[in-house]
Amino acid sequence: MAAILIDGVAIARELYAGYKERVKALAGRGVHPGLAAILIGDNPASEVYVRTKTRACAEVGVHSVQHRFGADGSEDEVIGLIERLNADPAIHGILVQLPLPPRLNSERILQAVAAHKDVDGFNWCNLGAMVAGHPRFSPCTPLGVMTMLEREQVVVEGSTAVVIGRSVIVGKPMALMLIAGGATVTVCNSKTRDLREYTSRADILVVAAGRPGLVQGSMVKPGAVVIDVGINRMPDGKLVGDVDFDSASRVASRITPVPGGVGRMTVAMLIANTVTAAERHAAQSPGR
Ligand code: NAD
Repeated sequence: MAAILIDGVAIARELYAGYKERVKALAGRGVHPGLAAILIGDNPASEVYVRTKTRACAEVGVHSVQHRFGADGSEDEVIGLIERLNADPAIHGILVQLPLPPRLNSERILQAVAAHKDVDGFNWCNLGAMVAGHPRFSPCTPLGVMTMLEREQVVVEGSTAVVIGRSVIVGKPMALMLIAGGATVTVCNSKTRDLREYTSRADILVVAAGRPGLVQGSMVKPGAVVIDVGINRMPDGKLVGDVDFDSASRVASRITPVPGGVGRMTVAMLIANTVTAAERHAAQSPGR
């Protein structure tokens, strides 16, 4: 039997309706959520991501501004801008579009974003708060996956979950969120000896490796929920995930498509975090 598709576009659309209401309520208190996006260099994929995020902001009524640096933009210039945005009361969220040109120190730049405006959830204060079980801003992609699972009423508690990939942006926080949800979690990486041994036991399989076709249907436990985080641009221009959709969708009970799956949720969570940042700001501002 073919798996049921988990439709990130439809879930995001429903979520946006709720965000619009929250933005309206904030406007009534004189607060207009603002997101600043910083783009460095000329990576075509980054251009697309920033455009998508800007469009999503416009859809829910979040004010967005873009700051661009050429490929030769200096670390100090970027950090100078971040410091000005940290102090700007009209900006509630700051996002630095990754990847940065390799000559720049990504950690130094990302850690310059104030924790209370870190809507991507990459500041060590926010990552640490999540590890401690008191999340403030969580990274958008794994948060989007958890939201998807919740909306689809997938039972996380007591499940066996496997995450492929251990990046700070996706794999590690994903594992922490699944642990917080009560799953028994295994995290695989490029050095894992026998990937199939792990994937074939997973009730929930989250794949975030950036390797097209890494997970084939024969590696999936019958009835599993398969979440494909990967986004890979093929030579013919087509976007594919890390999971071989055709074979996996014949074995899984539910599966996310690429595109139209997790990517949409990542953008939705960025908007959610920005609205939350503005709400926290409003709650702290006397007279609002
Ligand atoms: P990354 O390169 O930082 O990390 C990849 C991880 O996968 C590493 O931990 C590596 O050990 C592991 N890995 C690589 N090959 C493997 C293999 N053969 N077997 C097991 N593990 C393997 O990448 P990332 O930033 O975590 O992103 C991963 C993928 O997710 C990429 O395709 C990226 O484009 C995509 N992504 C999608 C979204 C979204 O919104 N859908 C957001 C972020 C990243």
